[in-house]
Amino acid sequence: MKSIINRGVIALLLAFSATITLSCAGEVNDKNPYKLDIVSDIKDYQKSVESDSDNLLVDLKEYIPGVILDIRYADTNNFTGKKIYTEPRAFARKPVAEALLEIQNKLNNEGLGLKIFDAYRPYAATLHFYEVYPDTTFVAAPWKGSIHNKGCAIDLTLVDIVTGAELPMPTPFDDFSEKASLNYNEPDPAKAANRAKLLSVMTEAGFTSYEHEWWHYNFKEREKYKLMDIPFEELDKINFTTIKGKNN
Ligand SMILES: [Zn+2]
Repeated sequence: MKSIINRGVIALLLAFSATITLSCAGEVNDKNPYKLDIVSDIKDYQKSVESDSDNLLVDLKEYIPGVILDIRYADTNNFTGKKIYTEPRAFARKPVAEALLEIQNKLNNEGLGLKIFDAYRPYAATLHFYEVYPDTTFVAAPWKGSIHNKGCAIDLTLVDIVTGAELPMPTPFDDFSEKASLNYNEPDPAKAANRAKLLSVMTEAGFTSYEHEWWHYNFKEREKYKLMDIPFEELDKINFTTIKGKNN
């Protein structure tokens, strides 16, 4: 009798723990279906910054004087037609932000400046983009993650510093056509020259280009950074004053 009860209890316990395991696995699968190494807990992010301040995601609007933000994914004016981000913010890892600041200073001397369309992108958005547009030429493969998820990629263009107007380029941002390619034989010499200007300032400052999108640049030194899935508003909850102060 005793052993029957015990067996019953054990069976119940096993069923219970199986349910828990399944529900937990379900949760993990929703947000990280390809089981990538993603920093999704704000405390893990905080620790990573404390051990290496390069991991800090810097608010580019604050850090780069005069930079213009046009964060399309915080509006409906993007290829998904939906508002993906809660706030129009742009963040990048510290060395990326430093390189962009250098570029901005250089451009300002020539009457030009930077306009940013997208920078750090939480992994959840990469999952969503692929659902909407499953073509890995223009949308990152969610089974690998995007360099935007590492805070090491930036989508941007050039503007006139006085008027703030974008310099004409071969296509608008997120035009998923062959005209967006760096190799596209642009018939308008002014547009071709603007595209070449962006390419030269970015590559001189340590970025690599992406042949299919004239607006997308990757920071070369990106291997040490992990993919991240922390929303913008969460990043504000941590006060990194000491770290910022140390390096300023
Ligand atoms: Zn991009």
